[in-house]
Amino acid sequence: AKAAGRGRYRRFTADLDTNAHKRRSIEVDLHNAVKNGEFELYFQPLFNLAKNRFSAFEALIRWNHPKKGLVSPVDFIPVAEDTGLIVPIGEWVLKEACRQAATWPEDIRVAVNFSTVQFAQSGLVNMVFQTLATSGLAPDRLEIEITESLFLENTGSVREVLHGLKNVGVRIALDDFGTGFSSLSYLRKFPFDKIKIDRSFIIELLQEDEAGAVVKAITDLAAALHMETTAEGVEEPEQVEALRAFGCTTLQGYLFSKPIPASEAAKLVNGEAAA
Ligand code: C2E
Ligand code: CA
Ligand code: CA
Ligand code: CA
Repeated sequence: AKAAGRGRYRRFTADLDTNAHKRRSIEVDLHNAVKNGEFELYFQPLFNLAKNRFSAFEALIRWNHPKKGLVSPVDFIPVAEDTGLIVPIGEWVLKEACRQAATWPEDIRVAVNFSTVQFAQSGLVNMVFQTLATSGLAPDRLEIEITESLFLENTGSVREVLHGLKNVGVRIALDDFGTGFSSLSYLRKFPFDKIKIDRSFIIELLQEDEAGAVVKAITDLAAALHMETTAEGVEEPEQVEALRAFGCTTLQGYLFSKPIPASEAAKLVNGEAAA
């Protein structure tokens, strides 16, 4: 048992080494990526059930690494957060997302992910305001997605920034709902426009009886608080029917579309001829 334990320990430290190495190499390359413009935004549509059409796109960053090819945001966003590079990257994402959205019909919104680290940056509200002014995008066409990790931070200043953003006129969505340090008290304290129900609950919808009860409770709660709901990771037609019955507002997932390049997103909402 002891030998097996040591083996496990050695394997564990070896993993740590390769992970640390992988991180360091990503860190070095990320600096260059910002300078060299190696990022691209993809857009995934959100389907509005009442309107029976796409009503928004979520901007999702992609990194075209010159040697490694496509690097997943899951691998580089945490490194960007630790190094502070998320600040210039996040600013680029917002500018590019607004620039693209300004070319879409006026009833199509764009959702942009904001890292908790970005909220420590002074002047965030002003940066958002300036970006909207430059792009000409109406503020209510921008939806900022935040996660529950934000509430581990100093809630006084977080609340101030969130209210500042609301004053600019943008919408705020709570992303990955149910996975983090959920506390229902946030829902009353902060001015969310939308709750995004995490994919893990949507997957369970067809597998476990109780999962339906949880998703229904979330959509009912959101409706009572006048918030919209988006179901994330919808892949099966059966999920659509369940979510419609629960009164979910919008659906997002591979069933409708994977994230697509900006040119394809524009075609989807402007029609082939206009793009
Ligand atoms: P997220 O914000 O929860 O974004 C949804 C993720 O789920 C995306 O992965 C999307 O491609 C994926 N997805 C959508 N529908 C389905 C589905 O039906 N099935 C499955 N299996 N997956 C689906 P992606 O693009 O790899 O992004 C991963 C995460 O990276 C995002 O999770 C977000 O936390 C982060 N991220 C992406 N872009 C940005 C960004 O511009 N800024 C920041 N701060 N984070 C970002
Ligand atoms: Ca998101
Ligand atoms: Ca999410
Ligand atoms: Ca997620």
